[in-house]
Amino acid sequence: MAERIDGKQAAADVKASVSAAVQTLPGQPTLAVVLVGDDPASEIYVRHKVTDTEECGMRSIKKTLPASASQQEVEALISNLNHDPEIDGILLQLPLPQGLNPNQAIECIHPDKDVDGLTEASAGRLVLGKTGLRPCTPTGSVILAKRALGDNLAGKNVVVIGRSILVGKPTALLFLAENCTVTIAHSKTQDLAALCRTADILIPAVGRPEMVKADWVKPGATVIDVGMNRIPAPERGEGKTRLVGDVAFKEVEPVAGHITPVPGGVGPMTRACLLQNTVKAACYRRGWPMPDGV
Ligand code: NAP
Repeated sequence: MAERIDGKQAAADVKASVSAAVQTLPGQPTLAVVLVGDDPASEIYVRHKVTDTEECGMRSIKKTLPASASQQEVEALISNLNHDPEIDGILLQLPLPQGLNPNQAIECIHPDKDVDGLTEASAGRLVLGKTGLRPCTPTGSVILAKRALGDNLAGKNVVVIGRSILVGKPTALLFLAENCTVTIAHSKTQDLAALCRTADILIPAVGRPEMVKADWVKPGATVIDVGMNRIPAPERGEGKTRLVGDVAFKEVEPVAGHITPVPGGVGPMTRACLLQNTVKAACYRRGWPMPDGV
């Protein structure tokens, strides 16, 4: 039976390290969170991010624009934050309301303040192996794999299913940087099950509920399930839903060596890694020494 990798505990540990690191800094890092419109889920995410940041001893500024805001207004707000010397990180909460172009807005974020690691400059720095801010979910996935297998992942065969800009590609590059042998699978991959069975570390990031079955997993493999899918849960009452990953957890758990649950696996790490990135952004930009544990 696989050992569960506790993402909540891992996230709490990252948060504790960030809090300790912040205490050693010569100043207080500041994160600006930009929320456009009034999507209730986005409001909750933003509230969590603000609370997390403050709990770690950092400053958080929330900037809101109405759903009717124009692209120009969103970009002007980001530009002001780019120029504000007090702001270390800028997070644009996605999705943006219909009619706004998220990629164009993201590109307005100065790379030094890009705590989500989503700009072209951040992606380029990742590909080139240069110092920079890495996307949060992929970073969290590496941390969870290391919790299961130890810090040295060199030589492990990694299969990432999914090649999105947000998750699949950066995840593959981060595991490559750990000296893993990485294969990226996608919707056109042939005999995906057989490919997955070669993985010492299997990372589905697809968005298809419980797609990865027991016979896709090499016995003893580490499974980091990035997928987050809402499916109907009539057993909980009419109209109710529940969250599942891309892995058929119940059947894979007896085969894998380590496995992340959904919820409670990669999800909490995404928030924790944003905090880490805020500290990193502040240190890089202000020339502060990078504290241990970040
Ligand atoms: P996405 O942009 O839709 O990308 C999905 C990827 O899966 C694509 O590369 C696609 O291949 C591939 N794919 C689709 N069907 C496939 C199939 N049958 N076999 C193999 N590959 C297939 O999604 P995303 O933004 O990367 O997100 C992926 C999942 O991660 C979602 O469930 C999302 O909710 C979750 N997520 C979780 C977190 C977290 O914090 N835990 C954060 C972000 C995302 P093609 O490129 O060929 O189309």
